[in-house]
Amino acid sequence: MQPIVLGRPKVDGAKLTVPIDPGGARQWFRDDTFRAEYSALDGLADLDPAVLVVPALGTVLTLAYALGVPVEVDRVDATYAAAADRLAATFAAMYPDFQIDGFELRGERVGPAAPVPSATDPALLLFSGGADSTSSLIEHQREVRALVTVWGADIQLKDRSLWDQLCRVLRDSALTADRRQVVARANLQELIDGPALTRKCGFAGGSWWGAVQHGLALTSVTVPVATVLGLTRVVIAGSDLGGVDVPWGSSPRTDNEIRWSGGRVEHDQAELSRFDKISRVIAPYLHGGGRLNLAICYQPGRGPDGLNCGRCEKCQQTTIQLLLAGIAPPDVGMPISPKTLAVARRALTRGTWHGDAGHRAAWRHLQLTVPATLTGPCAVPYVREHLEWFRTAKIVIGSGHAGPILHRMVLGAQFLAARTLSWLPLHFRKWCARRVARLLGEG
Ligand SMILES: [Zn+2]
Repeated sequence: MQPIVLGRPKVDGAKLTVPIDPGGARQWFRDDTFRAEYSALDGLADLDPAVLVVPALGTVLTLAYALGVPVEVDRVDATYAAAADRLAATFAAMYPDFQIDGFELRGERVGPAAPVPSATDPALLLFSGGADSTSSLIEHQREVRALVTVWGADIQLKDRSLWDQLCRVLRDSALTADRRQVVARANLQELIDGPALTRKCGFAGGSWWGAVQHGLALTSVTVPVATVLGLTRVVIAGSDLGGVDVPWGSSPRTDNEIRWSGGRVEHDQAELSRFDKISRVIAPYLHGGGRLNLAICYQPGRGPDGLNCGRCEKCQQTTIQLLLAGIAPPDVGMPISPKTLAVARRALTRGTWHGDAGHRAAWRHLQLTVPATLTGPCAVPYVREHLEWFRTAKIVIGSGHAGPILHRMVLGAQFLAARTLSWLPLHFRKWCARRVARLLGEG
């Protein structure tokens, strides 16, 4: 197959672009240029093109593994290239349909061997404001010198209002205040046709971005930042996969392989479940007088005032986890009311939310965690009533067929509202998406 050719990286102030000729992978590309813009970062222009090409590589490599397409560059950091070679085999072990025999990374390999940083060396943390990266930040408070938040990952490049909200949360938190905060605005999800790859690869319940792309793409985009700042560790928070070693786009076995001549990536807190992070890391921080907000929700139009809608499954699961950890949800920016809890009861008894066995097990585990005596924020009468119902409720999580079809309908409707009607004002598109989601029982 014709190789994907990455041209010479260009730097214009804080903007980095890499022209791409998609070669034999043309149908999977939506753009012919990788773009990243780094805020609050000087010195990008001084970096070797072999390092500057890494963010673009991190975005296309997984596609090249899947399709078996060679990737060609002028020059590339030798340590990163060696990691890319190893990762091809790691991804193929997770996804046997990947055609890695056709993959090859071509180009001059330059640069010294990577140092081996110690666990106390200064670090850079990928920070989204969610429970996972907040937990990592609390644990590594002493070492984390810089936070990199990627715009173009969980938040779409077009969604400026939501981005501004997240920035306010980051700016106003004591936890993030004394650290360098870099925003990388990059077309990680826009460059490649993720929805088409999701359909082609058919991940059970996952997406191309989640199941394959995000770990390598997000960490690679930080490599120029870490190099400019002289930081040898890039920390990415683990996600809760229910203690099961399922194939996923970010895990110890993939992330910990990623290296460049200046350092390496660390997949953090893999041993902790999400509830562990909230109850054993975040709650003690808050009970010790710390203050923070959590950006949990992925719903379009996450609520008029906050970062979280308080009604979707992710918000509702987090709400219970916060309550059981003794945290009043509004203290971390999670709305709660008799109405939001009624939404949860409806959804959990009608099977509106859906997932696999691991997903059902997570809800079951949460039910078993509800203590006999409810105290603190759990003792508020309407909350107590909800938790007493929840403890023994017969929870129905949709499975197999109806759920995913419904979910696809919701995604389709949201996609239409977000894209096809792109000439409409953003707040109106978000309103449409919210209405559709609610009509279909997802909101
Ligand atoms: Zn939500």
